[in-house]
Amino acid sequence: MKGLVTLNRNSVTCFTYLLIALLCLYTLQVDKVYSSPPQENSDWSYQEKTGPDYWGSLDPSFVQCEKGASQSPINIDTSKVIEHSELKDISLNYTKSSFSITKKQLTLELLPEDKNNSLYIGEKEYVLKQIHFHYPSEHTLNGKKFPAEIHLVHQNRSGQLAVIGLFVEKGKENQVIKKFFRELPREIEKDQKVKEDINVENLLPEKTVYFRYDGSLTTPPCSEDVKWLVLNQSIEMSADQLNKLETLFISNSRPVQSIGKRKVYIKPN
Ligand SMILES: [Zn+2]
Repeated sequence: MKGLVTLNRNSVTCFTYLLIALLCLYTLQVDKVYSSPPQENSDWSYQEKTGPDYWGSLDPSFVQCEKGASQSPINIDTSKVIEHSELKDISLNYTKSSFSITKKQLTLELLPEDKNNSLYIGEKEYVLKQIHFHYPSEHTLNGKKFPAEIHLVHQNRSGQLAVIGLFVEKGKENQVIKKFFRELPREIEKDQKVKEDINVENLLPEKTVYFRYDGSLTTPPCSEDVKWLVLNQSIEMSADQLNKLETLFISNSRPVQSIGKRKVYIKPN
């Protein structure tokens, strides 16, 4: 008898666990259905209650998104840009490199497989870490939003970031982008090696004047101390190429942030 009672009790316990498990599974399914669009790590997105207006309250580590005083992107008002001859020289040391391409939940990422691409601000070297796309542009130029913006993210030895922002206009087919898009993986988060080595310098316009200001990451955790170099001259991508971006992610553009007391500088020729 005693054995039977124990068995029954065990059966009841098993049944309870099964019920809890099923309930959890159901809840997960419900979450899956309602948590659109697909999100990266800490449940932030570009829409509704997890969109840019709410980033600061989604996670304690995102506090800068709401409270930061040097946030990006910004509108660059060329009438207020200051010519500053003391600014350190910018030089690029890009070479042909092998890349991989990854379709992320909220962007498209290009990763160099070596450390041979550098940006120099004065003597300080910042190595190219990754390139990604925003659709439409995040920075604006005299209030104008561009169809897309490409960010080339560099990092120095102490971990500081310097990002080149490149505006994209609708126009001719971009031959460098074409080489990357050819290898576009079907699945999310799956790296695809780009067959042909690419010199990213070919992506940049010939004449480069950089608007320089201190800002932040434009995605959570919105960390500050990012050196921004936004090019005054845009590059072109075809309507088809821009449509491709649109099909990959609906919109991944943080609205412009207050410039506050910051200044935007350029180095006179
Ligand atoms: Zn970006």
